[in-house]
Amino acid sequence: MDFDLSSEQLMWRDAVHDFVNREVKPRAAEVAESATFNWEATRKMGPLGLLGLNVPEEYGGTGLEAISAAIAIEELGWACGSTALAIAAHNGLGCAPIANFGSAELKSRFLPNVVSGKGQLAALALTEPGAGSDLKGGIKTRAVRDGDDWVINGAKMWTTNASIADFIVTLVRTDSAGGSRSLSLIVVPTNLVGLSIGPAEKKMGLMGSPTHAVSYQDVRVPAANLVGEEGRGLSYTLETLDGGRIGIGALSVGLARAALEESLRYARERETFGSPIASYQAIQWMLADAATEIEAARLMVFNAAFHKLNGRPFAKQAAMAKLFATEAAERICRNAIQIHGGYGYSREFPVERIYRDARLMTIGEGTSEIQRLVIARSLLDEPSA
Ligand SMILES: Cc1cc2nc3c(=O)[nH]c(=O)nc-3n(C[C@H](O)[C@H](O)[C@H](O)COP(=O)(O)OP(=O)(O)OC[C@H]3O[C@@H](n4cnc5c(N)ncnc54)[C@H](O)[C@@H]3O)c2cc1C
Repeated sequence: MDFDLSSEQLMWRDAVHDFVNREVKPRAAEVAESATFNWEATRKMGPLGLLGLNVPEEYGGTGLEAISAAIAIEELGWACGSTALAIAAHNGLGCAPIANFGSAELKSRFLPNVVSGKGQLAALALTEPGAGSDLKGGIKTRAVRDGDDWVINGAKMWTTNASIADFIVTLVRTDSAGGSRSLSLIVVPTNLVGLSIGPAEKKMGLMGSPTHAVSYQDVRVPAANLVGEEGRGLSYTLETLDGGRIGIGALSVGLARAALEESLRYARERETFGSPIASYQAIQWMLADAATEIEAARLMVFNAAFHKLNGRPFAKQAAMAKLFATEAAERICRNAIQIHGGYGYSREFPVERIYRDARLMTIGEGTSEIQRLVIARSLLDEPSA
């Protein structure tokens, strides 16, 4: 990687790499096979700063700039897709809206415990059984004000970390009139009466990252758990997703890097027709394309992060980075299996798992189609030359 990272960023990358290489990568196959979350490593992530990437230091976080945060998520993705998704969702989805839009009181009540590694994690529930891409029109979960409480009723779907979270930041409709000012975000502690978390979803991959349906039946939450202002939930959500997309792009770069490393190792060792398969141009081209796409994807992730850390608009850059990095990762992981031949299709080799993990990335936090929509809208809104 030749991008001009500062010495602090390089030291951070090395520290995270060293940690995940010891604590996360060796258990990646096991957590996927047994569908268990790697709590042992996660507990140690608190002191290292991996659980409070976007959280200011006064609330126990690391308060990192966006490039260093992306570096950490790439390293986690390189080590284990499941663990990386849980930690990316914790930081980018669960903690970020409170850190960015919550009151000081809300931050001090909810963030220190989840960033320390002593508590559980954080989650964000946007998607519902009938609404994913179309949040503005489709959200049916409702919060009604009753005295000093909000009373929440509804159902969420696909909530990453729901069963291992202290709280779920929940997107709700607070005004029946509809429109962009009718949605709000509310922090819902997971121990409240009326909140139930369904069994872990049976997924194609990422088995060590628990995903659940969540239902809310007359869940009473103090009014003070509202994030920021009532009616601004959609804009807070879209801004949160812009940041989350940099994370998913970085995670995809990490997955692709791991798949390329496995492919290089295998291509050097495996012989056919008396020569290592690495000597054949057909294999070399797949390796060359993979390395090229990884470099391009990482630069796009860093570019989006650079816009973010400089306070510039970054929605288009984040959408482009997510679109390119996730689709490149899928191609690279597909070709990694091709390079491994029949063994690539076996659970004995990591590329099979990495491929299944990578498949989610073009869907979660906005599908590729939605990224193209965001990019096209941004282009069409720009004044013509
Ligand atoms: C493992 C996993 C973890 C997840 N974690 C979370 C989480 O933590 N929190 C959370 O809230 N959600 C989470 N999700 C949900 C995820 O964000 C949604 O699945 C995703 O946004 C797509 O929504 P949907 O599934 O409802 O698909 P739909 O919105 O129904 O889309 C179906 C298809 O139609 C396409 N489409 C939709 N609208 C358009 C359009 N206008 N133009 C062109 N094409 C369109 C989509 O691209 C897609 O191909 C997770 C999902 C999975 C699988």
